[in-house]
Amino acid sequence: MQLMVENLHVAYDRIRALHGVTFGIAEGEIVCIIGANGAGKSTTLRAISRMVPALPGSRMDFEGRNLLDYPPEKVVSQLGVSHVPEGRRLFGNLTVMENLKLATFARKDRPAIKRDLDLVFSIFPRLAERESQPAGTLSGGEQQMVAVGRAYMTGRRMMLLDEPSMGLAPLMMLSMFEALKEINQAGTTILLVEQNARLALKFARRGYVIENGRIVIEGDSGALLNDPGVKKAYLGG
Ligand code: ATP
Repeated sequence: MQLMVENLHVAYDRIRALHGVTFGIAEGEIVCIIGANGAGKSTTLRAISRMVPALPGSRMDFEGRNLLDYPPEKVVSQLGVSHVPEGRRLFGNLTVMENLKLATFARKDRPAIKRDLDLVFSIFPRLAERESQPAGTLSGGEQQMVAVGRAYMTGRRMMLLDEPSMGLAPLMMLSMFEALKEINQAGTTILLVEQNARLALKFARRGYVIENGRIVIEGDSGALLNDPGVKKAYLGG
């Protein structure tokens, strides 16, 4: 397993959000976590990227290293794990290119930066056309492309994606998922969380269902798409 999460507990003040979440991802996989509002999907990603602390007893290993030893900036810069949070958080006054370049400030490998930028622009040709446009004036889908591109520029071993389909029109959603497949084929493992369970399960090879801070079902996407309980609760019957 490239990422192993074991018995992950997280609380916000006194509110427990995760109660012993356990799952793993092998290198190169696309895996999704689906669940209702407030089930703990975003919190799981935040714990992996170390944005929220894990409670004692939790264990997370990435490529044989203890994630709990790493502060958030080193999870990205040293381990290559990037996080695309819900809501994108771009610098609206900066151009597309500036947003992408800002992501590389900690990198010194110029030829590789150029190569990664070229890959981002080849996956998202719309961004190449709009490289000098302020990010705040892009459509929602284009902003999501910048957010994904920026994450790719910072960490390419594994990408954590929080609701990449949120707010996107159906066609834009499909092209976003096609782009994510290309990023995966270029060597990035993908963990995504989604409320759009059907879309997520069509895209990912395996999935986990989280309810009230606990993983309750796991399996291959095909099996989950046909599971009566999953169908009833998450796929609209
Ligand atoms: P959604 O799909 O609505 O984003 P989610 O599955 O991602 O939901 P989380 O955002 O992980 O769920 O929330 C899990 C629980 O933790 C919820 O009960 C939520 O209210 C709580 N929570 C999340 N963020 C905070 C915070 N910053 N402070 C306090 N409680 C929080």
